[in-house]
Parts: sequence; structure tokens; C-alpha cells
Amino acid sequence: MSRFWSEVTNALSPYVPGEQPQIENIIKLNTNENPYGPAPGVLKAITEQTTGDLRKYPDPNAAALKQTIGGYYGISPSQVFVGNGSDEVLAHLFVAFFKGKRPILFPDITYSFFPVYCRLFEIESRQIPVNDRFEIELDEYAQENGGIIFANPNAPTGIFKPVDAIESLLKTNTDSVVVIDEAYVDFGGQSCIPLVNKYPNLLVVQTLSKSRSLAGLRVGFACGNAELIEGLNRVKNSFNSYPMDRLAIAGAIASFFDDKYLKETTEQIIYNREFLTKGLKKIGFTVLPSKANFVFACHRQDAADIMQQLRERAIIVRHFDAPRIEQFLRITVGTYREIKLLLAALEEIVGA
Ligand SMILES: *Cc1c(COP(=O)(O)O)cnc(C)c1O
Repeated sequence: MSRFWSEVTNALSPYVPGEQPQIENIIKLNTNENPYGPAPGVLKAITEQTTGDLRKYPDPNAAALKQTIGGYYGISPSQVFVGNGSDEVLAHLFVAFFKGKRPILFPDITYSFFPVYCRLFEIESRQIPVNDRFEIELDEYAQENGGIIFANPNAPTGIFKPVDAIESLLKTNTDSVVVIDEAYVDFGGQSCIPLVNKYPNLLVVQTLSKSRSLAGLRVGFACGNAELIEGLNRVKNSFNSYPMDRLAIAGAIASFFDDKYLKETTEQIIYNREFLTKGLKKIGFTVLPSKANFVFACHRQDAADIMQQLRERAIIVRHFDAPRIEQFLRITVGTYREIKLLLAALEEIVGA
């Protein structure tokens, strides 16, 4: 609290990102970063931008990147919006589509940035509980609303909802914008982007931070009807003309030109995820079925205690002190070696 802060600022409870500890040789499995690094062509494209041209502003519309993403997904560049990480894309869409009179709907367990944006932008929300298997029950979203948003696969559960189930919702919910945050969709899910030509109120958000291993570059995007994209452009151009810098535009474009690398690395992560899941189950963990690059797991031993003991062994995982999930740990799928070390440490801790 400060007497200099506005009322809104005093009432905020900001999102807390997973920590980035400056400790050497730690095994960092707390922020769902990709262990394999970006495609080689990405680093080359970024390096080529480190010239005197950095004195000039980038293209405010990032047209070349929109062209590339549109081409990749078979839609028009006018159906693509890009931003400084998908968190920024999400912020803009809350303003563009959700700042209405009716409450928006999202699951009680989902990306914790959604309630943060509601407070920042003073948007009413209603949280719909996931069922006791932690699945989103889409039938319960058939009620009056000012918008719907959830992550698919959901975070932090990793549970994936099939596209046909989402299409059923879109058939009945036609008067408000439905946003699907597909940050983890490349790890075995299926994207809703092919539906954007059919449903003018569908917006699909993705990021280059996870499957494309570019969390440090800050690039996210949204695909939808051109009218929705124009709404996002209006908000963006009322906020920051140049959210995408020259390096980010060049690196992001290059990442869409190496599909073989994307396929190989995501397949390796899926393979590692199954190895991690099996190993956790063997030592008494319950593991939710994940289609993401993390697993969400609990044990009869206290989650915060396990996290602390892992920390003492220089292994960092994420724990959310929130209702219904306080006994779960979210563990990023790392390399095969990291998983082996994690499982060995856990075996000691839980005494299996
Ligand atoms: C990681 C993540 C994002 C944010 O990604 P950035 O593009 O790095 O801002 C968005 N949504 C979910 C569900 C995520 O897990």
C-alpha cells in the first residue's frame, strides 16, 4: 500500500513468475522452458540483425512475421496478431473483448494470469470448477457470459480437451469471444486454429516460448477472424507501436522454417514425459494425464515439503499454494538425464 498509488494499483495482486535462480548447475524444472534450445536457423537470423540498422525502428505491424505465421497455418495475415510474448497478447485481448458488462468465465484451475488481468482491467469474472478429475466441464459454460477463456492443454494440469468438444461450445456460444490459450498445444494436442474461418468469435493464442524454445525472445501470437484481429490492433496501437523488435521478428520468422527441428524436439519431450510419468507413478505419485511439457503430480507426502527437499538438492520445481492444488507439484519435462536425477532424488525423499 502506498498513498501515491492509484486505487487500482493498491488493489492489485500481481502474477508471480517462477523464479530464475542464479545458482550454477541447478536442475531447473519450474517454468516449463524447453531444454533443447531454439532451432539453429533462429540464432543465425537473429545474429544477422545485429547491425547498424538497429538504429531504425522495426516494422510496427511486423508484417513479415504475420505473413509467415499465416502461411504456416493456412490463414490470411489479416487473421494474425503478434505481441511481446503471449502474456501481452492476452492482456490486449482482455481489454479488447472482455471489458464489458457481463462477467467472463474461466476454470477455477487454469493459467493464473487470467484473474490478475481481471483485477488490473477491472473485469468481472466467474470461475467454473473443474471436475474431480481436474477436467474442464464445457457444458457448464453454457450460461450468459461476457467471454470465455481457458488454456488447452490446461495449465497447470496439462489435461487436453479435444477440438470437437470445443467446437460444440462454439456452436452454442455465439455472442461472446471464446479464447483458447494453446501455449502447450505442440506437445501432443490438436490446435483450434483451423476453426477460425468457421467461428468469427474464436481467438486462438499461442507462444514461441515453449515448443519453439524462445522464452527469452518474447513472442506470442493470436489467430482469429480479421475483425477480432483489428480489435487487438486498435488496443495495441493505443499502448505500444513497436512491441516486436527487429531481433524478435527475425528469430520468430526463422523458427517457422524449421519444422523438422520442431517435430524432433517436441517428440523427444513427449518421450521424456512418458518416462517421467512412469517413474513418478512407480514411487507412489498420482500423475494427471499431460499433453504438455510438464506434469502435475501429487504424493501422500506434503508437496511443499517435497519441493523444499528437492531445492536442497538443487532441483527446482513449481508449487502453487492455491485451493484444490496445494498438494500438487508442477514439474517441467527436462532432458532424460535431468529426469533420472530428479527421480533418484524423489526416491530418497519419499522413501520408496
Ligand atoms: C507460458 C504460458 C504463457 C505465456 O507465454 P509467453 O509467450 O512467454 O508470455 C501463456 N499461457 C500459458 C498457459 C502459459 O503457460
